[in-house]
Amino acid sequence: MINIVLFGKPGAGKGTQAEFLKSKYQLFHISTGDLFRHHISNKTDLGRLAQSFMEKGDLVPDQVTIDMLKDAVENNPEAKGFIFDGFPRTAKQAEALDGFLSEKSMQITATVALEADDDVLVERLINRGKTSGRVDDQDEEKIRNRFEEYNNKTAPLRKFYSAQGKFYSVDGIGDIDQITKRLNTLIDGLH
Ligand code: AMP
Repeated sequence: MINIVLFGKPGAGKGTQAEFLKSKYQLFHISTGDLFRHHISNKTDLGRLAQSFMEKGDLVPDQVTIDMLKDAVENNPEAKGFIFDGFPRTAKQAEALDGFLSEKSMQITATVALEADDDVLVERLINRGKTSGRVDDQDEEKIRNRFEEYNNKTAPLRKFYSAQGKFYSVDGIGDIDQITKRLNTLIDGLH
């Protein structure tokens, strides 16, 4: 079983690359951002709560996020492995994920960061916002706030996974298929 955490700032290409990885390695893709957006379109209580944070570019509180993630894993017992996209984003989430997976005799195989400069990412997100309709992609101030949240709360996880010998970086700049090849080379080398 391989379980990959896709790590990187908003716009780094996690969602795009997860689509390729999930078919190549037959993994189940869990994007907490997509799950929240699904709750918002279905007008659930969780969706209403998440929306107030997401619209500002703030992180949604840990406990509801962790509970939602656990449900997604538990609802897919047949999965051969998972791609965690956009989770964990805080130390508390990372610790909860390790604890939860070990209860199931599972563990993270690797955390792979897609690296790109902020200016490239802002441009990508503004472009994506033109078609995605996502309010958090349409305003540079909100985008910068998402980067702030990342720098303050998510970036420290590099150390957390490095200490476990599980942290890998991949250059996230270039053609999509070039980046996919870099990821494939890395993941194939993990076995
Ligand atoms: P994403 O689609 O991954 O860019 O996530 C969009 C937004 O959903 C983020 O800016 C957060 O508001 C929220 N979100 C997604 N994943 C998490 C998470 N693991 N923890 C807290 N908030 C999250």
